[in-house]
This record gives sequence, structure tokens and C-alpha cells, in this order.
Amino acid sequence: MSLYDIKSRIADAEAKYSKPLNSTSLIAVSKLQPNERVLKVLDAGHREFGENYVQEAASKWPTWRENYSQLKLHMLGPLQTNKARQAMELFDCIHSLDRPKLAKTIARLAQELGKCPKLFIQVNTGAEVQKAGILLKDLETFILDCRSKDLNIVGLMAIPPVDEEVSLHFALLRKLADDNGIAGLSMGMSNDFEKAISFGATHVRVGSAIFGSRPK
Ligand SMILES: *Cc1c(COP(=O)(O)O)cnc(C)c1O
Repeated sequence: MSLYDIKSRIADAEAKYSKPLNSTSLIAVSKLQPNERVLKVLDAGHREFGENYVQEAASKWPTWRENYSQLKLHMLGPLQTNKARQAMELFDCIHSLDRPKLAKTIARLAQELGKCPKLFIQVNTGAEVQKAGILLKDLETFILDCRSKDLNIVGLMAIPPVDEEVSLHFALLRKLADDNGIAGLSMGMSNDFEKAISFGATHVRVGSAIFGSRPK
């Protein structure tokens, strides 16, 4: 378990790039990890976690919420409309708002449930066909659409293409957020979170570097 290593590397990056200490939220991505690894990180006092699958998250976190206070849970994976209600009940934050239909469903459920997680819009910065996310050309309209529905858009999220220089994508996401008056930036994973911090990430999503590689 390398929680402390990662936290100290984040602190070093914050110092190096003149960010306030502890200004970066570390989301420990626990998807597909064995429970005992997650429990170690919980027992070490960490409280912010990310998951990709609603079903998997629903099978573990309600119990852990009873035993560990102040948990903050982030939904990171693509979200099917028919799982939106369950996701909104489970998660404090959804990073994968990626299409108008989902925005419409979340807005309706928010009225019904009387609450709504904080929302990040996922942007497909590399225009990859297999990847979720709003395309650049549609982003501004989508942000306006979300705001007209009173959705609480707190940030933008991206997963850069594996074979491209991530800095270009981090810089682009930063500019898109600035241009649209959005403060949060969810970017950076195990291999590039320090670089993401240099480009202004407010939330880094680190899985294998904390927990070890995910079992197949
Ligand atoms: C799995 C995942 C991560 C964590 O990836 P690591 O390489 O294990 O750090 C971060 N973000 C998203 C969206 C993921 O699906």
C-alpha cells in the first residue's frame, strides 16, 4: 500500500508548481481491487475513493459508509441512464456526465430525490470513437444545457489517449474550464498525476499506484 508515497509526491508537486498544500484532492480508485486492500487504505485514514461500476460500488460502499465517517465517493466510469438513480444515491460526485440524455435524466431525478451529486462533464479531448465524453465542438452548448437545468457543474474530466502526449490534453482541458468559468479539473492517473497537477488538476484519480495492479 503506497498511500503515503503518493500523498507525499502530491505534496511535492504542489510545492514545485506553487499550488497551496493539500489543494489537490486524491481520489483513490478502488475499482476491482480486493476488499482487504481498500480496507487498509480506509484504516490509514483516507476517505476519498473512486469507482467505475455502479453494481460493484453498491456491493461494498453502503456497509463501509456505516463504519467509516466522512467518506466521499466518486463515480468515474460511463454511466447508463437506467443506473443513474442508483448512482445518485451512492455517489457524492459523478465525473462522467457525457451526454444530453444523461443530463436530462439526472435533472429529473434531482427533483425527485431532492439531492444531486456534484457533477463533472467528461470531455473526449482526443475525439476517440471508443471513448465516452462530449466532443469539443459540442461542449459549450452542453454546458449551457446543463446550467439551464440547474445542474451543479463543478468541473471537467478527461482521460487522454494512451498514445499521445498527455500535457496537450491537460492544457486543453484547463483552457476549456477557464473559458467556461468552471473551477474543477479531474485529470491525472497513476502515471501522470504530477504532470496533471502542473496543469492545474484539482482532482487526481490514482488507482494502481496506491493499491497495486488490479487483479485480472
Ligand atoms: C481506472 C481508472 C483510473 C485509475 O487508473 P490507474 O492507472 O490505476 O491509476 C482513473 N480514472 C479512471 C476514469 C479510471 O477508469
